[in-house]
Amino acid sequence: MIKNISLEDKSKYPPGLYIVSTPIGNLKDITIRALEVLNGVDIIACEDTRNSKVLLEKYSISTKTISYHDFNGEEARPRIINDILNGKSLALISDAGTPLISDPGYKLVKECVLNNIEVFTIPGSCAAISALTVAGCPSDKFHFVGFPPNKEMAKEEFFSGLKNLQGSIIFYESPKRVHETLKAVQKTMGNLQGCVARELTKLFEEKIYGTMEEILNSIKDRTLKGEIVVVLNNPAQISNFESQLEPLVTEVLKYCSVKDTSSALSKALKINKSEIYDLALRLKDGA
Ligand code: SAM
Repeated sequence: MIKNISLEDKSKYPPGLYIVSTPIGNLKDITIRALEVLNGVDIIACEDTRNSKVLLEKYSISTKTISYHDFNGEEARPRIINDILNGKSLALISDAGTPLISDPGYKLVKECVLNNIEVFTIPGSCAAISALTVAGCPSDKFHFVGFPPNKEMAKEEFFSGLKNLQGSIIFYESPKRVHETLKAVQKTMGNLQGCVARELTKLFEEKIYGTMEEILNSIKDRTLKGEIVVVLNNPAQISNFESQLEPLVTEVLKYCSVKDTSSALSKALKINKSEIYDLALRLKDGA
């Protein structure tokens, strides 16, 4: 199918930095625009050139590659900025997914912004967002918190600090540490519902759903392999203000719709309608 797509010619891309998302496993998960940009820019900066070679070769892209990663960033950045200021177009890709998301790129983008260099986004795969779409956790509000710390104390402090965040919580973890990490979640945040999403888009893709206890039970005799994202359903903590209002809203909801309840109470109590609306909606849903 991809044979019918012609990659555009090399002269098209104006100077600038192109942040290009690449697949998180399945090499077919790349956009047509990403392929065109990777083919059309002057240089591709890769987190690991050997790793990206597999993708570039699959799509017959022969653009010059250079390395850009955490260990050579200081030294590579001024050269990259100079190249772009001298008229070159440069794409940044990481080993997988979206650059900057637990991957290098932030300092380079910042430096481009400071130098009035235009930064273009070529969106695509991201493990955190992919996991959220299959986790069965609320997706209207979520927090991505990267990789938790490795040490036990720091890990527990990290999760304790997330307790009051409203919405789903997404984090990355290595398979070696996932058991210990889920135990830390259970200890500090309670027996939350969640999903361990493993090897998304790959041959051994797996989603393990349940409370922390259920998930820990189901993986206790297993050594998980591959790449993992964890999504937690962190139920909204009811604020003081809401807990005072709750009995009243519950009573009015017996006779009125969510909309009418929030309209009437916001007028009567002279408070913001949307705050009552959110509470009424949650109470109506039994949340
Ligand atoms: N920038 C990437 C992105 O947009 O998702 C993430 C890079 S981070 C260094 C790598 C981590 O992402 C892995 O350790 C794992 O937690 C998660 N990850 C990447 N690919 C994955 C996949 N196919 N399935 C599950 N998790 C994945």
